[in-house]
Formats: sequence, structure tokens, C-alpha cells
Amino acid sequence: MDSHTPDGHARFAAATNVVHLGRPPRIPGAPVNTPISLSSTYVAAPEGETAPYSYARESHENAVALESALGALEGGLATVFGSGMGAISATLDIVPHGGAIVIASVGYSGTITAVARGDESGRYERRIVDMRDLRALEQALSGAAMLWIETPANPTLDITDIAAATRLARARGVITVADSTFSTPLITRPLSLGADIVVHSVTKWIAGHSDLLMGAAITADAALHDRLRLGRVAWGSVAGPFEAWLALRGLRTLPLRLNASCNNALELARRLEADPRVATVRYPGLASHPGHGIATAQMAQFGAVIAIELAGGISAAQRLCESVELWTPGTSVGGVESLIERRRRWEFESVETPAELIRLSVGIEDVEDLWSDLDRHL
Ligand SMILES: *Cc1c(COP(=O)(O)O)cnc(C)c1O
Repeated sequence: MDSHTPDGHARFAAATNVVHLGRPPRIPGAPVNTPISLSSTYVAAPEGETAPYSYARESHENAVALESALGALEGGLATVFGSGMGAISATLDIVPHGGAIVIASVGYSGTITAVARGDESGRYERRIVDMRDLRALEQALSGAAMLWIETPANPTLDITDIAAATRLARARGVITVADSTFSTPLITRPLSLGADIVVHSVTKWIAGHSDLLMGAAITADAALHDRLRLGRVAWGSVAGPFEAWLALRGLRTLPLRLNASCNNALELARRLEADPRVATVRYPGLASHPGHGIATAQMAQFGAVIAIELAGGISAAQRLCESVELWTPGTSVGGVESLIERRRRWEFESVETPAELIRLSVGIEDVEDLWSDLDRHL
């Protein structure tokens, strides 16, 4: 544990903890930030003794610094990976051969594709279920190995009731995983709601500047933590020292960036909903969202992604994405800059995602500038 928070992290608010967690011991002359450790190997201890590090694929100082921060924020032990999909693959690998994974039909395309491939190859069985239907979920969980929740879901922003779903899973001995990328540890803490593992694409809001790829899996269960670490070593998916250092630097300002983005998103969602050129607006912070009640209960803010469908359909969506001047047409979410994308332009996107759906990742720019760019080109 770091000594910059001498009484531990529980005493302070998350906005304080993100600033102080994961720093070197507070001793005179010590650096305030963990230096970037560019070494693949470490001097070994005499046989029979252990050293903190031996080979960087197993672990290194910058991974540990970020892990101590993310673990404390989520309330578990963190393992960081070279990408969100690295964390997700290691987590899926916990499922025994032939075991069933219960998952929604829509969600992050990489996860949906990975689980579909695993099902086709016989590695595991995929059971698709509508998470809003708790009776259907209960049935699907019978004899399953893992429940995969993603809330809010990318890109449809469907909301899953984490506490209700994990209660059903736990009663049946099913491991629950929550992809909490769209919430971050500051908005929802899935472990405290009953999930066994939380996964993040650290690439998105946690790192926050669209300049690196990284993932994390966090669990309070020591055996699951061991499995995840072994998976990382075996599959060679550790995060690099520079990326881990950058992600920790990004984490320091997460509350500021997230507040700005969430406030902007709520304001834009309201304006878009009132605009006749827009046919549908999906944003968990709107009372019209079917998951609004659950979102209000389990989210401290409503996130920074809005999905819209225009009255003009696909061609209007394409025109908007290609004509905006301030919003950047591009994939991904969670950076300080606002991004816009018609998801189905990619053939890997699920056909369950409406073809005209536009995903808006709202950044920290001035909200009037963001609005006037949309307004001018809608
Ligand atoms: C981007 C994303 C991922 C994948 O993360 P990468 O860092 O791109 O590998 C997983 N889940 C969600 C919800 C995402 O948005």
C-alpha cells in the first residue's frame, strides 16, 4: 500500500483517492510518481528467496502502481492488461471447457465476437438472454458457469440491474462479471453490488486521452485473482510500463473529466430529445430511458455516451458523421475529445444494433460549441 494515504484509502472520497493512490512510499528524496521502469528482467534473489519482480511479463512496478489504485477504487485486487480485450479474454478463460456463459445479444462488439467464436469452436456454450427479463435470466443461469453483464451497454446503452442479476447468479453458483467501462469506478462499483469480477477497458475514461490501450480485471476473490494473473502471464497480455504510467496519470483527473463529460452529455441528450430531427435518443439520464430507474439507483452519474437515431435514417446519419467540424468521426469512447460514429458502418457490429444508430462519446469541450456543431449539421 502506498504511504501517501497513511490511514488507508477508506477515509477519503474517491476524488481524493484517485490523486493519491499508487504513489511511491513517502520518504524524503523519493519521487512523487513511480518512474517508468523500462526493464524486461530483474536481478534475481538467491535461490529459495523471492524478489518483488523477476520478469516484466509477470509484473512490473508501473503495473503494480496502477493496480493498487484501481483495486482500491473498486474494492478488490486488480490485474492490468495490454487492452480491454486482454482483460476480457483472460476473464472468459476462467470458464471451464464446455461451460455456459450467459450474455446479452448486444454489447461491446469485441466481447460479443469473442463469446460467439468460443461457442462455435465448442470452447464454451453461449446463452443469449434479455437481462431486463429476470425470469428469463434465472432460467438461463441454471447450470451456467458465468454471467456476463455490460452496463450501460455499448452502444445501445441498455441498463442491467447489477444487484438483481448477481443475486440470481450467486444463488446458482454462477460467477458474475461486470464490464463497467461505461461507468468507471467513480459511477458504479459492481463488486459492492455483488459482482465477482469487474472488467474495464482502461483505454476509455480511466486513461481518458485516446493515447493508449489498456484493460483491467478486478476481483475481491483471491482464487479468481490468481486465475486472472496466471492468464495474463500465460497469454502474454501484460500492459507495458509506459502505458501503465500514462493510465495512472490519466486516472488522477478522472473525476474532473468525467464530471465535465457527464454534464455535457445530459445537456446534449435533453436538447437532442427535444429536437424534431432526432427520432430517438438513448441516454440513461433521461426519464424516457427504460432503464432510468435502475440507472438512478446504481449510477452516481449517467455516463458520457449518447446513442441517437435520426428521423432521416441511415443516410442522414452518414451525412452528420461526415459533415461535423468539431466532433471527430472516429471509433472508441472516453477521451477528452468528442467522437461520433455510426456503429453499423463496421461489419463486426452486431446486427441487433440499429443500422442508423449514431454513438456520441461526449468529451469535455464547451457544451455550446458541441451543440452548435450538431445543430448546424443535423
Ligand atoms: C472498448 C471497450 C472494450 C475493449 O477495450 P479495448 O481496450 O479496446 O481492448 C470492452 N468493453 C467495452 C464496453 C468497451 O467500450
